[in-house]
Amino acid sequence: MTSAVEQLLAVKASIANAESETGREPGAVTLVAVSKTFPAEIIQPVLQAGQRVFGENRVQEAQGKWPALREAFPDLELHLIGPLQSNKAKEAVALFDVIETVDREKIAAELAKEMARQGRSLKLYVQVNTGSEPQKAGIEPRGAVAFVSRCRDVHGLAIEGLMCIPPADENPGPHFALLEKLAREAGVAKLSMGMSGDYETAIAFGATSVRVGTAIFGGRP
Ligand SMILES: *Cc1c(COP(=O)(O)O)cnc(C)c1O
Repeated sequence: MTSAVEQLLAVKASIANAESETGREPGAVTLVAVSKTFPAEIIQPVLQAGQRVFGENRVQEAQGKWPALREAFPDLELHLIGPLQSNKAKEAVALFDVIETVDREKIAAELAKEMARQGRSLKLYVQVNTGSEPQKAGIEPRGAVAFVSRCRDVHGLAIEGLMCIPPADENPGPHFALLEKLAREAGVAKLSMGMSGDYETAIAFGATSVRVGTAIFGGRP
C-alpha cells in the first residue's frame, strides 16, 4: 500500500506539471489536502512532510482532531469545505481559517456577527451550485454575483473567491469555466475547484486551489 506521504508527493508533482503545461506560474495553485474521515495518526505524517493546508467537511469531526494538531503545527491553515449550519457558525469561526461554503444570507450574517464577536477574520469563499443540483449546497449561478455584493455591502464581508463541486456524472470543464466567469464578474480573485479526479483539468481552467482527498489519503469508508 502506498503511504499518504508518497501520494502527497505524487499529487504535488502532478500539480506542478499541470501548472507548467498550462502556463501558470509555479506555485500558483494551493493544494488543500482533504482529510475528512481520517484520524490524526494518518494526518500527522502528511503535516510532517510539510503540507500545511487541509480541508474538512464537518465542524464537529474537525473539532475532535484539529486543535491538538494545531498545537504541534501552529502555521497550518484549515478550510471548511462542507455545508455550514448557522447554529455551528460560532464553532466554525473559532476553529477554521477559511470557510469555502458561504451560500446564503443567514450564514453570511452569522459569520459576520461571530467574527466580530471573536475578533477573528477568516477568509471566505462563496459556494456556487454550478450544476443547479437540488440536493447540493451552494448559491444558484444566476444569483452568485449579486450575493457576493450583498456579502460585502450588507454584511461587511470580504469574499476572496468562489468554490464549486461539479455534478459527479458530467464533464467538469464547463462548470470550471462558469465559475471562472462568475468570479471575474463578481471581482473576486480565488477559484477553489478540482478534486482527485479532475484537479489537473481545474488547473487548466484557472483554479487557484484544488481540494484533493482520495488521491492522497486513499478511499473513504
Ligand atoms: C470530499 C471532498 C473533496 C475531496 O474529494 P476527493 O475526490 O476525495 O479528492 C473535495 N471537495 C469537497 C467539497 C469534498 O467534500
